[in-house]
Amino acid sequence: MLSVVPASAESRPVSVQAPAKVNLFLGVGDLRVDGYHELTTVFQALSLSERIRLSPAETLTISVRGDNAAAVPTDDSNLAARAARALAERCDRDPAVHIDIDKGIPVAGGLAGGSADAAATMVGLDRLWETELSRAELSDIAAELGSDVPFSLHGGTALGTGRGENLMSVLSRGELHWVLAISREGLSTPAVYGELDRLRAGGSAPTVRDPAELLQALAAGDPHRLAPLLHNDLQPAALSMRPTLRRTLRAGTDAGALAGIVSGSGPTCVFLCASARSAVDVAAELSGAGVCSAVRTATGPVSGAHVVEEAEQ
Ligand code: ATP
Repeated sequence: MLSVVPASAESRPVSVQAPAKVNLFLGVGDLRVDGYHELTTVFQALSLSERIRLSPAETLTISVRGDNAAAVPTDDSNLAARAARALAERCDRDPAVHIDIDKGIPVAGGLAGGSADAAATMVGLDRLWETELSRAELSDIAAELGSDVPFSLHGGTALGTGRGENLMSVLSRGELHWVLAISREGLSTPAVYGELDRLRAGGSAPTVRDPAELLQALAAGDPHRLAPLLHNDLQPAALSMRPTLRRTLRAGTDAGALAGIVSGSGPTCVFLCASARSAVDVAAELSGAGVCSAVRTATGPVSGAHVVEEAEQ
């Protein structure tokens, strides 16, 4: 049946929500000739999220609100601006949009906040401009913007290979409960990879690990089985650059978390807890321990970037 879209609907602002990610497993392989490392990673999308509002405008403009907004560029280097330009070019139109970013994800925290903004912008503009691009086409554009952007679109729990952009959904039964220990001072992702290369130079070649056991624990939905299998090859590099994170990790497990790891390139530390109740207790204890600047609880997995309908706002 033919549906008639009112002319005014096209110019209505669109709101999008996009999740933070944690790497439950991050295996970093050799440095490739293109400068990226070969990765095997298991991502999970968390309930900590960005809110993006896209409104038609004369030219491309950006505003940023929320925690640490001053650390986020509002020029063309913002990943959301790059996403808008890439999509506009693909659709042969002007990137005439105002992007308002409400940061719920810490900046440079190893939680892919910038990637979430890029994914949210793509999903929102797809709706605003009625691009009719397929999910696969959006994912290809996302991969050109950054290694984590395809996962921010995908959401859920996924195995990532290549630079992390080749994704396969994996089964994660039930809900996992996380506590995040956030540091005010971020860590630069390229600098952490550089530190890993430095630590590895002269040492032994990277050990090849396999996430098979972790994937089984996820499918079984058993946080106790999953906890000892959480793994991040970037953690030694992040700890070398920020030694105080050792104290943060210890404080989380002392407080009753099943396990704690550095998230991606850090400095956020994420703690897996046995239940929602335990996560609240761990968060309360960590808040008082003076080992981080903020503490949040979150659950996973959640959906990737999606348009938020009026009733959800
Ligand atoms: P990842 O885990 O994907 O490596 P991250 O979570 O550690 O990334 P981001 O918050 O994505 O880090 O930001 C890293 C840097 O990118 C920031 O320091 C900032 O200068 C720049 N940046 C560009 N666009 C954005 C954006 N929309 N939000 C946050 N930072 C951005």
